[in-house]
Amino acid sequence: TKPILTVTMNPSVDIVYQLDSLKLATTNRVTSVYKTAGGKGLNVSRVLHQLSCPVLATGIIGGNLGEFVTQQLDAIHLAHDFLSTTYPTRNCLAILHDGKQTELLEPGPTLTAAESVHFIQHFANLLPKTQLVCISGSLAQGLPSDYYVKCIQLCREKNIPCLLDCANEALVKVLHSAAKPTLIKPNLSELSQIVHQSFSEDLEKKLIDVLAKPLFAGIEWIVVSLGSEGAFAKHNDHFYRVYIPSIEVRNPVGSGDATVAGLAYGLVQNLSDEKILSLGNACGILNAQENETGKINVQKLAALREQIQVMKIK
Ligand code: ATP
Repeated sequence: TKPILTVTMNPSVDIVYQLDSLKLATTNRVTSVYKTAGGKGLNVSRVLHQLSCPVLATGIIGGNLGEFVTQQLDAIHLAHDFLSTTYPTRNCLAILHDGKQTELLEPGPTLTAAESVHFIQHFANLLPKTQLVCISGSLAQGLPSDYYVKCIQLCREKNIPCLLDCANEALVKVLHSAAKPTLIKPNLSELSQIVHQSFSEDLEKKLIDVLAKPLFAGIEWIVVSLGSEGAFAKHNDHFYRVYIPSIEVRNPVGSGDATVAGLAYGLVQNLSDEKILSLGNACGILNAQENETGKINVQKLAALREQIQVMKIK
């Protein structure tokens, strides 16, 4: 079978420094260092790979850090076909200290107009080799905010389902365009920002009203992830609430990406709505139970899915 294509436009080499305490304006000696390939699309790729779903990772990389990203993927035999730029891939730094996490995020390379066009061609060339596309995360600097609209248009022309997990202007541009993704997966705060509304009380009723707005018309699936509260979903005219068991959490960063991977894998297998949603949420939960981002314990998947309840609302 053809792979799922994941798109990461601004990947990173994530560095985690562990310190007892962080002292400002002086020298700090780091006790332990981890370096991993980061970016939301890469998290999706790793989870799909652990689910034994064929996957091909694409996006833009550059320089030595770009090579580090591809070496990390090679090490786990995860297929990739990135476009290279002259500017190096970024570092993102997380410092764990005093029981807290301080992050320093580089913006990443600024792409030229020629590179912007070049990637679209690269992406179009990969489409015939793929059965579904997952686009995740923010755009690289230099790309127009409607860049994902162009990517989705190409998917539509080729009749390839396209899942989009991004926020802010890049998402708003897609929602206002004619190029409809097959699925979007905002979390509640991303949804709040788009519709300028808060969801403090009467959550389900408000979500039904909001997701029925013309802004979301034409998008087959909208999955609103609710962290430890599970998820709420709309598939065409059907609404669902996903109830999940309470679990011991290690590190929930990237749970949304794991959820996207599970949803994508459910979609390519043509599962029922209920099964797609339980698979997505189970992957999100399993990611939250690991320290590492984009890691799931597949052994626990089947039993966990039994504990997830998907209720049809309307
Ligand atoms: P990220 O941006 O870090 O990838 P997100 O905000 O997009 O995350 P969440 O809503 O936090 O996504 O999580 C996605 C799914 O993962 C949830 O719908 C839920 O199934 C599971 N999940 C996340 N956090 C928890 C938690 N603390 N306990 C149990 N399940 C969780």
